[in-house]
Amino acid sequence: MRSYGLSEIRAINGKYSMFHAMTEEEPSEGRFHFSAKDNLTSKGMETCSGSRILEGYRPAFDATSIERMKAAGGELIGKTNMDEFGFGTFSTNSGLEVPRNPFDLERACGGSSGGSACAAAVFEDHVSLGVSTGGSICCPASFCGVYGIAPTYGRVSRYGLIDYGNSLDKIGVLSSKATDLRKYIGVMAGKDERDPTSCAQPELGDSHVKLGSVAVPMEGVEGLSKDVEAAFRSALVELERMGVDVEYVNMPSLKYAMPAYYVLATSEASTNLARYVGMRYGQQEGDLSLKFDDYFTSFRSEYFGDEAKRRILLGTFTRMVGFRDRYYAKALQVRKVVIDDYKRVLADHDAVLAPTMPFTAPRFDDISKMSALDSYKADYLTIPANIAGTPHMSVPCGYDSDGMPIGMQFVADHWNEEVLFSIAEDWEREFELRRPEVVA
Ligand code: GLN
Repeated sequence: MRSYGLSEIRAINGKYSMFHAMTEEEPSEGRFHFSAKDNLTSKGMETCSGSRILEGYRPAFDATSIERMKAAGGELIGKTNMDEFGFGTFSTNSGLEVPRNPFDLERACGGSSGGSACAAAVFEDHVSLGVSTGGSICCPASFCGVYGIAPTYGRVSRYGLIDYGNSLDKIGVLSSKATDLRKYIGVMAGKDERDPTSCAQPELGDSHVKLGSVAVPMEGVEGLSKDVEAAFRSALVELERMGVDVEYVNMPSLKYAMPAYYVLATSEASTNLARYVGMRYGQQEGDLSLKFDDYFTSFRSEYFGDEAKRRILLGTFTRMVGFRDRYYAKALQVRKVVIDDYKRVLADHDAVLAPTMPFTAPRFDDISKMSALDSYKADYLTIPANIAGTPHMSVPCGYDSDGMPIGMQFVADHWNEEVLFSIAEDWEREFELRRPEVVA
């Protein structure tokens, strides 16, 4: 097992900025190294959720996911950079450092678990915990050329997770080794009395399930870049060669998932952010001579980034009396229709399959020209499975003409992670994964 010393970790981080906080002690030999997205609380290690408003917050406890990884022999070496509170697709909406793509330092890692995907790609024998609300595990996994899984909603305890959208957030795993998905979801899964949304759940199976058939939604192969389309087509041919039936289907609800998601996610986020007022966590250096609401406002104006402010406005609007039936209640109805669509298709197929992202990792200068809406739209392939709460996984399936990784996303029925683990393990034997050349 490759293990890294403190100075090496620091030097690598200096190039890629995958970590915000890092271990301050020499990591011990013999324990496996892992990192965790910075919205998971880590005892004594700074936890900011990518936000300046939380700078200096050192939690008094570990999130259940981190606690279970440590109990299984893991050593937490770093907290990974991310979009502020998970609000983004490229990790460029961070109030702190922005991670760089291991295949091209001028490009983004994806988001919002960008630092986790970066760490999983760069460090050998490393597993990183990510969190997905609308695709934040699969998107960066695809941009950085690693495997990434978001399990069924309720499979892994959210205790100690800094909430973005409580009904959507799922903790999962990113790694360059397919077998790590089964192993570490297994370590973290299970009901937790401290999180009422964690479920009494069917056991995670540990047998190998051969993939029989996949459904490719017509709606999932629209709007792709040429390279993504070509890589995806050859992956389908490869799957057929492996004995998998590939069938094209219609899933008309998918195109409504993205607008519904941004209503639901911002509605939940805007209430979650109400607690950050400069009194309890992180930054508390405000002007105490102000009236309390002026103090809160000055504080939030100063330390929240633009995207957090945009989402507070959007989410407050969609929940307002007079608008909530039109937006929030409608979005809940759409969510139900999307779930029904998956259930219908998954009754006849083992998984639904489409590319993970419509393009490969963009350059930072191109991202800076994108509007908020452009970046929201980039998520149309990852969002549907997230609002359905179904487990989903991105596996590397090719490289574009610049050598940038391309991923495809499998979605299985609720609680059926077993089929996803098996697909990843079978695919790993057939697909030649490229490791980035690591500079330090
Ligand atoms: N890009 C999506 C968003 O900005 C998803 C992010 C996430 O899953 N945290 O909401």
